[in-house]
Amino acid sequence: MNNDRVFNFSAGPSVLPEEVLSIAAKEMLNYNNSGMSVMEMSHRSKVYESIISDAEKHLRSLMNIPDHYKVLFLQGGASTQFAMVPLNLFTKYKRASYIDTGSWASKAAKEANKYGEAVVIASSKEDNYSHIPKLDPSIFPKDVDYFHITTNNTIYGTRYTPENIPDTGSTPLIGDMSSNILSEYYDINKFSLIYAGAQKNMGPAGVTIVIIKEELIGHAMDITPTMLDYKTHADNDSLYNTPPCYSIYMCKLVFEWLIKQGGLAAIEEKNKYKANLLYSYIDNSTLFKNPVAVEDRSLMNITFITGNQELDASFVKEAAQKGLVNLKGHRSVGGMRASIYNAMPVEGVEKLIAFMKEFEAKHK
Ligand SMILES: *Cc1c(COP(=O)(O)O)cnc(C)c1O
Repeated sequence: MNNDRVFNFSAGPSVLPEEVLSIAAKEMLNYNNSGMSVMEMSHRSKVYESIISDAEKHLRSLMNIPDHYKVLFLQGGASTQFAMVPLNLFTKYKRASYIDTGSWASKAAKEANKYGEAVVIASSKEDNYSHIPKLDPSIFPKDVDYFHITTNNTIYGTRYTPENIPDTGSTPLIGDMSSNILSEYYDINKFSLIYAGAQKNMGPAGVTIVIIKEELIGHAMDITPTMLDYKTHADNDSLYNTPPCYSIYMCKLVFEWLIKQGGLAAIEEKNKYKANLLYSYIDNSTLFKNPVAVEDRSLMNITFITGNQELDASFVKEAAQKGLVNLKGHRSVGGMRASIYNAMPVEGVEKLIAFMKEFEAKHK
């Protein structure tokens, strides 16, 4: 651990593994004897081709992605997927089901309404998004082109557990996995398309990963811009135009780090251990509370409040003075939020809990 570094609990862009940053630093001036940095090389060079193809190969092995899915490295963030998904998938009914579990989910639905109709079939908005709505598959509309969920709700700290992914039958299931991709094992076969911006749990901002069943590619609406058509990128192995070269390289390093840690099974165990430490402390605390339904708790974003806004603010401030930074909750919900992505070491969570105990002793 480099002593100049803080424990960064930011929701995104977020902490990266220190080992990965060190490798990137070492390779900065001269990548693999190319005599240049990855930022400077042609995306059509042999050396870069091996970076992007390794990144894809590692992701496929980590997530166990079957061959009939394409992996695309795109730009524009998850927010661009809010439009790309309907533009490419509104093929028959121009209508889709959305579950409203937070602001990202609701933004996704709003964007789909520009190209067709987003039917919000369940929402937890009235309960301030403190849980995932219970879904009854018998009410799922059949005359929709797809069914959209947000697997982890970054702002509110809720998630669909892998067991709780809705069974949508023959309707393609789409998952915004921006804030919990690679955090635990989800069965890809339950989804037809998964998308995720890199800057939460994979790498730096700039690249968005799309994992899409091949059969969904090639049916975009006529108005779809070339750059927003999955086919453009699938046909060109994500090299139709200049990709976000350096971000993809960083993702490759993160994937290699994950594989070295023992893959998703090992990371999942570590993530559950970290989340459990924090939740159990909060549950036994007389000062802090977590407002989320226990069965829907996120492993990545853990929210907590004291119930007193001034106290929350001094908590955030004093924590920062101790090198525990970015603990302020999202501006729409207040309180605190600790984002403990894959790269957050156990030590960071332990330090946070130690500080919470100290703070609690002072303020009870
Ligand atoms: C951060 C986030 C987004 C937005 O991502 P951008 O890459 O900034 O567009 C969308 N969905 C979820 C769940 C997020 O956490």
